[in-house]
Formats: sequence, structure tokens, C-alpha cells
Amino acid sequence: MSITLFWDGLLEASDYLKGDEVMFGGLRPWGMHAGNILTLVAYPYLLFEQMEKMGKKPRFKYYITLNDWEPARLAFPKGKEFEHNVYPVDTSFEYTLDVEGCHKSIVDHVEGPTREKFKIIRKDFPGVDLAFVRNSELKENPLFMKMIGITIKDSKRIAEIIRDSTGRPVLTDEAQYAGAVCPSCKSSQGKTLFENGVVSYECSACGNASSGKLGSFDYWCYHIPLFAARVPSLKIAFAIRGLDHYETKRIHAGRDILNYYFPDTGFPRNLIAPMLIAGDGQKMSKTRGNALDMDTISIIKACRGNKSENIKVESV
Ligand SMILES: [Zn+2]
Ligand SMILES: [Zn+2]
Repeated sequence: MSITLFWDGLLEASDYLKGDEVMFGGLRPWGMHAGNILTLVAYPYLLFEQMEKMGKKPRFKYYITLNDWEPARLAFPKGKEFEHNVYPVDTSFEYTLDVEGCHKSIVDHVEGPTREKFKIIRKDFPGVDLAFVRNSELKENPLFMKMIGITIKDSKRIAEIIRDSTGRPVLTDEAQYAGAVCPSCKSSQGKTLFENGVVSYECSACGNASSGKLGSFDYWCYHIPLFAARVPSLKIAFAIRGLDHYETKRIHAGRDILNYYFPDTGFPRNLIAPMLIAGDGQKMSKTRGNALDMDTISIIKACRGNKSENIKVESV
């Protein structure tokens, strides 16, 4: 698997890429914090800039997936040590209501401001074709849905792969990595089975029991198999990803799950973006409450030519 890191990795990628590949970035649809901007906007921007310097024209298809099938909130019933034994607290992003009340779902609420953050790419690299795709829009894609089915059915095997690839303990018998969303109450708290091409779902929240073909339900899915499922569905050749995905070997798990689903599909090349460090020296994140709203140009400037794995940006 090809993985290159930080600024030197970006230079290598600018060398091996032709400029017309399908590239990818994914987002949990809570909105774009400064760390997301670094990985999904600033690093691609600098890559395109570098390629132009080399006389290459960036004409990538750049998919940004809004991962509305990820659980909006994760429960760790076995404790944080079993970080891969996780379940949705309530439901997927797709059915999480907009707390502000101005849109139907949280995903609808963040999509507009998220798109705004990519305007600088549209303006300076008009040859790049940006496409925002929700997981729920891939429901029509047979490869994507096939892999959702495998993820429901073979949860124990997926758990073993995640355990072996990441080196982390996983309770394989209890693992569940995808499930239906209740057609009635929209909860993901239920039991989903997929056997002989039929999905059956029993809702623990409202008691509804239903069954049907794979395409007759919406789903939640854990992010590692969900990433693997997008690779052949979108024909991804290159991905820019956050450092945490590399350090926790989630990228390796994604590769090994893809290989289990589709042994003939190649795994994309990965460029790992550096980490944005807040004034308190910690990783910036929404959960830590230190994710300052920084402007994209300051982040681009702080990253340009910076070989460090930690990027500090003066707040604006
Ligand atoms: Zn809203
Ligand atoms: Zn229900």
C-alpha cells in the first residue's frame, strides 16, 4: 500500500499523480472545523498548486463524501479499550434532526457551509471537478449496497480483520458494523439480520419488525467498512487523510476489509495530512472544544513548505 506523509509526501504525490485521477476526502457531517479544512481543503489546494508548478494541470474528480450513514454519536458499551466495539447511541446522521430547526437534518444544515469552504479550490483550480456525495445517495450503487450487506452478515469476520489490522482488542462475537434504520421510528437501536438476500429488522426502540430486500432500508455503518465500500463505488485512486487514521491503522483495516470484499480492487494511494495543533498544544477537535474557526488562507500559508507533522496556526 502506498502511504506518504506530510509535506514530503505531498511532493511525492505531486510527482506520481497525473492530475486526472479520482480523489477523495470524507467528512462526518457535524461541519468543518479547522482540522477538516487542513485535510480536505488546504492540503489538496497545496497539492494542486505544486502540480501546476510542475506543469501539470489538476483535472481531478474530487469527491467529498458527507458520511450521513455513520452513527451521529458512538456508544462504547465495553469501554474505550474496545474502541472498535461501537454502536450508534441513537441513529445515523441522516436521521439526526437539525437542532437549530432550520433544516430537516443535521446533514442538510451543514452541507451549505461545508461547500462554502471549498470555494477557494473552485476559484483557483477550476479544472478540478468537486462533487459532494452523501452515503445515502450511493444506495443506487450495487457495489456499495453489496458491501453494506456483507458488513451486516459477516460482522464477526470484519471484526477479526479490524483486530488483526489495527492490533487493537475487539470482542469479535459482539461486533456489529452495520444495521438498518427503523423504517418506523428512525432509531438504529435494533437487531438486523441479512440472510438469503433478505434483511430483517427488529426495533428495540418502538418494537417494529420488518423485512425486505437490501434496498428497502436505510442503514448505519461503521466508518472503516464504510470507507472500504466507497473505494470501488466511486473508483477512488487517491485519498488525503488525517493523521489519526494512519496512527490508529484504520487505513490498514480499510485496505484489508476491501481486500476481503473485493480482492481484485486496488486500494487507493494515501497522502497523510499533518495535524493542526491548537494553542493549548492539543489536537484540535470539536469534542475537546478547542477547534477554533480559522480562515482557510491562514491554514494554507501555515502548511506550505512545512515538513512538520504538527501545524500551528495563529488564530485570526
Ligand atoms: Zn438548519
Ligand atoms: Zn423503531
